[in-house]
Amino acid sequence: MDKKICIIYTGGTIGMVPTENGYAPRKDYFRDILISSLNEEDDSLPDWDIIEFDPLLDSSNIDVTHWTKIGRAIAQRYDDYDGFVVLHGTDTMAYTASALSFSLENLSKPVIITGSQIPLCRVRSDAKDNILCSMIIAGEGVVNEVALFFGGKLYRGNRATKVSADDIAAFDSPNCPPLATAGIDIRYNYSALRKPGSGKLFLTELKQIPIAVLKFFPGMQFSLFENIMTESLSGIVLEAFGAGNIPSNDESLPDIIKKAFDKGTIVTVCSQCAKGSVSLGAYETSSSLKKAGAVSGYNMTTEAAVTKLYYLFSQDYPKEKIKAYMETDIRGEMDL
Ligand code: ASP
Repeated sequence: MDKKICIIYTGGTIGMVPTENGYAPRKDYFRDILISSLNEEDDSLPDWDIIEFDPLLDSSNIDVTHWTKIGRAIAQRYDDYDGFVVLHGTDTMAYTASALSFSLENLSKPVIITGSQIPLCRVRSDAKDNILCSMIIAGEGVVNEVALFFGGKLYRGNRATKVSADDIAAFDSPNCPPLATAGIDIRYNYSALRKPGSGKLFLTELKQIPIAVLKFFPGMQFSLFENIMTESLSGIVLEAFGAGNIPSNDESLPDIIKKAFDKGTIVTVCSQCAKGSVSLGAYETSSSLKKAGAVSGYNMTTEAAVTKLYYLFSQDYPKEKIKAYMETDIRGEMDL
């Protein structure tokens, strides 16, 4: 393939080795093992360069500064490559894929994020297939967005979620069909792909914003949460039941939410269900959320809602604009 891609290796199981404290990444090791496991004679692979992060991370340690580091690594080299592959741990891969989908505006090249459940150094590893397919997809240039490749499927980055700690097919995008499937051939789902960006690539550097996620459960004592839902929280994602419902038999909750909203906190309602959409006001048990000023996350994943809040607050938009954007599809992250 007459194409060149850049691999950005951030860490994760894919390049880990066993240590006395369990699997951990090892510096300056991955490039050689990758070379020895690829069949460079195969001309279906693009040429590649690799950048290794220092320190390499277990993705549980990823934070906003690393998303900016990955975003910068891509933006600085954007004109030099046909596509990018980001190697990443699986634990927070869906958050990083979502964050990059928002922070990289006007993409017209593939940014494919992947990793593995079993390290590349192990005989039963799923790493080789994930890396090879991601490299080919990055080189082919059909995709113009941040996508996540795992277990034979390519998912929209901001629709993906980790669904299994054990299975090789560890990811899914329950509210969005796969963008491609890798069988004997890689077959793209052309109608599901995003159009290339029309302007120049623009990177928004994400800022550390005070955000919280609150999951409802039966018997929850809302008054205990009053202290955290103050104006010092810029955004809060409520994981409600089903179509966005919360218990209506405790009157303190709508008041707490209203107070938080009045003080400037953007309250976004997502569903605990992986599939389907929030519909505020469909039931009596969600109408109080609507009245209190909460916004609907529709069928966004929590990963997408959290990273969208980071992105919007990093732009210093006024509250009303952030509220409006939370309910608007900006990168293919939701269906209205
Ligand atoms: N803890 C690892 C990580 O997320 C798990 C993995 O990569 O599968 O970095």
